[in-house]
Amino acid sequence: MSFKVTILGSSGAMPAYGRHTSAQLVEIQNRYFLVDCGESVQIQLARFQANVHRIDHILISHLHGDHYLGLMGLLFTMQMQRRTEDLHLYSYKGLDEIITAHLRYSQSTLAYRVIFHSLQPDAREIIFEDNALTVETIPLLHKIKCSGFLFREKPKPKRIDKTRMPEGLLLQQIASLKRGEDVYDNDGMVLYKNEEYTLTARRSRSYAYCSDTAYYEHIVEQIQHVNLLYHESTFIQEDESKAKETKHSTAIQAATIAKLANVDKLLLGHFSARYKDLTPILDEAKTIFPNAQLALEGEEITIQE
Ligand SMILES: [Zn+2]
Ligand SMILES: [Zn+2]
Repeated sequence: MSFKVTILGSSGAMPAYGRHTSAQLVEIQNRYFLVDCGESVQIQLARFQANVHRIDHILISHLHGDHYLGLMGLLFTMQMQRRTEDLHLYSYKGLDEIITAHLRYSQSTLAYRVIFHSLQPDAREIIFEDNALTVETIPLLHKIKCSGFLFREKPKPKRIDKTRMPEGLLLQQIASLKRGEDVYDNDGMVLYKNEEYTLTARRSRSYAYCSDTAYYEHIVEQIQHVNLLYHESTFIQEDESKAKETKHSTAIQAATIAKLANVDKLLLGHFSARYKDLTPILDEAKTIFPNAQLALEGEEITIQE
């Protein structure tokens, strides 16, 4: 089952050196989430051959322009491509008014519904849940209200050991075994002992998206042991005062959060336009947390089961 993050943009504040502002496509078991929506999002989606029709959920972390200015163009394109399915939009209040104003002044209507889910500041809340996964907000520390997003697969059923599967097993018996139960006959005797016919469940994977934020240890507990952490690292250590002033993080700070949270892997992004060469960002982060990688555009990060 798929669990993949595609980087569409990772430039902080403005495009620079061919890098575009924040956007990612997160695909989990055939569900597609667009996370942040920087101004080049449509170009980037096309460039990396993502299917716009499959995006049913758009999550916007906060209302700084570098995270949502691509949204209106995308909504209009979806209209021109005759979208009819509902689109769920998760963001802070105000974005609904911005969309309404655009539609009003262009005398446009959308043939599909945009269902707006308002994020609550400073709250951890589950904003999406189905049978396979949950998405929860991560309160961040930034100049304005800002939330990260934590994607987490639900515990998975046990797997049937096909090499040992008895002939003629009924569907309901398979379901019982997958739930970890034994299968009984009509007299209440154990027919199939669970451990003899099943393999352990595959692991449940997780991804935390944390942008934009100052160094904020409060998030450590919530993102403990995630498989993949995207943490903004706008600045190198030399510019730490700039990070403090703008409520962003340095690479060292991002790596420190990754280390404290015992994550498997760290993705660094939201790079300041002042740096052409990003090597120092990666090098600094690796001094604290070696399994780090730059979120470069087009990069696909897959988390194996
Ligand atoms: Zn930003
Ligand atoms: Zn911001």
